[in-house]
Amino acid sequence: MQSQLDEIVATIRSEPATGEVASYIPELAHADPNLLAISAIDLSGKQFSAGDVEHSFTLQSVSKAFSLALALEIHGPLVFNKVGYEPTGNPFFSMLPLESEQGKPRNPFVNSGAIAVSGMIPGDTRQESYEKFLKFLTKLSDGQQFRLDEPTYTSESETGFRNRAMANFLKQYGWIEDVDLAVETYFMHCSTLINTDQLARLGLFLANRGVDPITGNRILDESSCRAIVTLMTTCGTYDYAGRVAIEIGLPCKSGVSGGILAIVPGKMSIAAFSPRLGTHGNSEAGMRMLQLLSEELELSIFQ
Ligand code: GLN
Repeated sequence: MQSQLDEIVATIRSEPATGEVASYIPELAHADPNLLAISAIDLSGKQFSAGDVEHSFTLQSVSKAFSLALALEIHGPLVFNKVGYEPTGNPFFSMLPLESEQGKPRNPFVNSGAIAVSGMIPGDTRQESYEKFLKFLTKLSDGQQFRLDEPTYTSESETGFRNRAMANFLKQYGWIEDVDLAVETYFMHCSTLINTDQLARLGLFLANRGVDPITGNRILDESSCRAIVTLMTTCGTYDYAGRVAIEIGLPCKSGVSGGILAIVPGKMSIAAFSPRLGTHGNSEAGMRMLQLLSEELELSIFQ
């Protein structure tokens, strides 16, 4: 596995880079476009990584998998009374299906859905609610500490007019209670710092039916875990999910800073990172690394 990851990073570095670093959140535009990292951890806890593993980036939409997990831990299947299960076929920032569907977000992985999910995490203030999210990440990683990247949070909060519009829309229809609380905690989830080793570790329970295979602790019930992994497959990379299913064949959750979490059910959790994005908002090199690894190890769940 180690030599495979080393080879994949070397191969990608030798190919011409494609894609653009996200700049609609001004702070993200400062990222070094050539960063490249991949980590994998298997159910026995063996961890392998290659590339710029020590580099931290912000979770962005990869956080949506963990905020959904936390909401499911707190509320169980009631979560799906306020957010649906279906793909949108539209970009993550789209407001399109909301208007014709009484403002109910189609799924938890588009921005409107993640804002609704963030609104389900209890707390009287954004700090209180965000503290619950950080504690949950600490639990998933058996004790690691995580923190907010203030510049990214400020940058996103100052420019997130569209997300704020969506939150107002959700409030109008009664899907959230407090607009500021829901949207600001959503921005905070997105602005949490992580590296690929940590991200792969956080996702490990999703590869093992909701149980952390290293500690033996149950994190989530099986059906909640299955819902997350299934939604990662159908909606985790937005209007690119069909292509990802064919080319990689793994449940994935991507984010605009360039991170991707991929789950191999019953086997391992993989995290890839590289900041240049394709037109659908997914890391180009990240997807390519996952594709190479999936082909070499025959990991596709659709094999
Ligand atoms: N924070 C970003 C946003 O709300 C997350 C989007 C993403 O990673 N796809 O626009």
